[in-house]
Amino acid sequence: MLEAHNLTVSYGPHRALENVSVAVGKGEICVILGANGAGKTTLLKALAGLVSAGPASRWSIGGRSLAGMKPHDIVEKGIALVPEGRGIFGDLTVAENLQLGAYGRRARSHENANLERVLALFPKLAERRAQIARTMSGGEQQMVAIGRALMSNPDILMLDEPSLGLSPLLCVDLFKSLKTVGETGVGILLVEQNAKQSLAISDRGYLLENGAIIGEDTASALAADPAVQRAYLGDAGKRVTRASIVSPTGAIDLPDPLLLPSDPHALSEEAAVLAIRAGEIHSAYIATRRKDLARPSGFSTSVTPGLGSVADMARRASEIQMAHIRARRAAREVGSARPDPSKTPRDDINN
Ligand code: ATP
Repeated sequence: MLEAHNLTVSYGPHRALENVSVAVGKGEICVILGANGAGKTTLLKALAGLVSAGPASRWSIGGRSLAGMKPHDIVEKGIALVPEGRGIFGDLTVAENLQLGAYGRRARSHENANLERVLALFPKLAERRAQIARTMSGGEQQMVAIGRALMSNPDILMLDEPSLGLSPLLCVDLFKSLKTVGETGVGILLVEQNAKQSLAISDRGYLLENGAIIGEDTASALAADPAVQRAYLGDAGKRVTRASIVSPTGAIDLPDPLLLPSDPHALSEEAAVLAIRAGEIHSAYIATRRKDLARPSGFSTSVTPGLGSVADMARRASEIQMAHIRARRAAREVGSARPDPSKTPRDDINN
């Protein structure tokens, strides 16, 4: 259903993705595994139209080309992204966050059915519909983020590290829910550090390193592959890859990431220490960059030619959405003087 060929993305002189090709079928769950900085987030952003891809890049859904489309048009064609950090509107209620997911033309006529589907998948959201989203736990916020994406009536759901920051117990629930979503026919493209659990629910997987696909297979074959086990299924906290090995004194030449032992102490001591330290510096740098740029999470900070800064777009989108919410609230207040006896699920979330 989703097919991408030769996706190439550069940030200035840095080539983050090089001729990446992936596909996700109806109801299929595909996982992208890769080290920090491998290009996983960039791949999802490119498919969602949040970063611009090179001219030879081609991607389509149901045979309809998406190349060069704006992000909101890509949502209209049936692709929803749950970004890293969730990207929910913290000051809005659960109900309002879900309602915003159905803002697009594609979703409006299916709003009630999709709301029922989301509340059946996450019954807790029904109990908490009036709660301000930022006061919810991490796991509950993740439910809101996935719920909101499903409200856009997607054919393909893309998720960037959904298990990040969740307890092991909540991770089990999360992956179970994703499996259920897949069974409803929605294709899922999942980026995950939790290789073990994501391979367990996936049909297929891709290995992405240094911006290129270096392997793909069924999830069960990948889980059984000793090289994959060494690289991704060992102690995740100690995973060391070539992408991490950069220090102020220069790059350290290490073997292919897939052949690295998961225990860094099996490397020369100096290389292992530098690798871990460099990984930490890299993550801290990315975190600082993200924090410095005030924006609703989930919006890329990069500039898409012809669209202006994405931060500006995010600001404008927030203003439009807030105006929409205010109008809905005002309409509700007027409507409450004349209560409608026929209650629909949509009324339900608004109350
Ligand atoms: P992680 O698991 O750490 O989130 P990732 O696999 O998702 O990593 P990306 O975030 O896609 O990796 O980054 C791929 C490469 O592109 C990295 O080297 C990163 O530093 C670089 N990169 C990402 N975003 C930008 C940006 N806005 N400007 C410049 N370089 C960027």
